[in-house]
Amino acid sequence: MRAVRAWAEIDLDALDRNLSRIRSRAGAGCEVMLVVKADAYGHGAVEVARAAQARGLRTFCVGTAEEAVELRRAGIAGRIVLLGTLVDGEAEDVLAHGVEICVHSSDRCLRLDELARSRGDRARVHLNVDTGMGRLGVPPERALALQDEIRARRGLELVGLMTHVAASGGLDDPGGRAQVERFDALCRRLQHGAALPRHVHAANSACLFTAGERRFTAVRPGIAAFGMLPGHLAGAELLEPVLSLRTRVVFFKDVPAGTPVGYDGTWSAARDSRIATLPIGYNDGMPWRSGNRAEVLVRGRRVPVVGRVSMDYTTIDVTDVVGVEVGDEVVVIGRQGDEEVTANEVARAAGTIAYEITCSIGRRVPRIPVRSSDRDAIVPAVARSG
Ligand SMILES: *Cc1c(COP(=O)(O)O)cnc(C)c1O
Repeated sequence: MRAVRAWAEIDLDALDRNLSRIRSRAGAGCEVMLVVKADAYGHGAVEVARAAQARGLRTFCVGTAEEAVELRRAGIAGRIVLLGTLVDGEAEDVLAHGVEICVHSSDRCLRLDELARSRGDRARVHLNVDTGMGRLGVPPERALALQDEIRARRGLELVGLMTHVAASGGLDDPGGRAQVERFDALCRRLQHGAALPRHVHAANSACLFTAGERRFTAVRPGIAAFGMLPGHLAGAELLEPVLSLRTRVVFFKDVPAGTPVGYDGTWSAARDSRIATLPIGYNDGMPWRSGNRAEVLVRGRRVPVVGRVSMDYTTIDVTDVVGVEVGDEVVVIGRQGDEEVTANEVARAAGTIAYEITCSIGRRVPRIPVRSSDRDAIVPAVARSG
């Protein structure tokens, strides 16, 4: 059996239930285009897309051409939409794999049109309108002209119209509502010229879990599928975390009061203490900034991270927990007994957002798909220190 220092369990039952909740939230006739960019927010894009495909989802959104190709190679046959923008060098792959592309400039449309026609192909594009994100997207007043331009190009097929909402509070936020109203107004204006493209979409997770009715024809949730929402949104209770991050105690040290622990001695034992070392560091998803701030679970109890987190190791104070042994499982994100540490909690301790926490779980941490029902069967081999 492979020795594992830290591992992430991906609970496919929880994912299934989240997808059902997303489906019913989106409502009949509204397509769910599941966002699996950044390796499905660190959860493993191929595994997540396969599980979603098995539940009937047919459309996936990615962030780069490489991510699209990875899904195609894994046999994901449905629609794939590359969000954001193409960068030079991605267009060939995208066309070869039938990936849909978001566009917002004449220049990109021209080049895409030429390339598609030279291949005897058509590029399927979504027109991205900037209603207030201030990042990518064409300004609303240019949208009509660009739409006409796309429709006039034989190498392009306009299949979608989209915008992206900046407010992390979704439609609870006046800024979010204003963006959706702007988008709605634009849709009505565009409709005067010709029929709207087939796919009209605006909602990310925050919008989906705050909007009453305005869904357009499709939604683009990402983080909600993984059981999280931007910190302050109430809808999070409806969802279940999919990922848990686990490790094991590899070493103990009983230190006298006054002993400094870790780089720069930012923590010193205030009493005689038992310090356990965990083989998980900031490369593995334990944020550097969570040193002296986060808590982890061992034997069902919360214990503090003490000292700095290093690249490969983290130290915790287990003085108050009786009977901790080398090999004991430690939970960084997830449940143990009656206690739970959420990715949002780790994010707060580290001064960041949950998105960044799960995206930062490094490559050397295996993602292990589990069904919550049979979790106990998969616990990997114990890694003991020298
Ligand atoms: C990432 C992304 C989403 C999904 O956002 P969540 O907050 O994870 O639901 C939707 N649309 C676009 C354009 C994105 O970049």
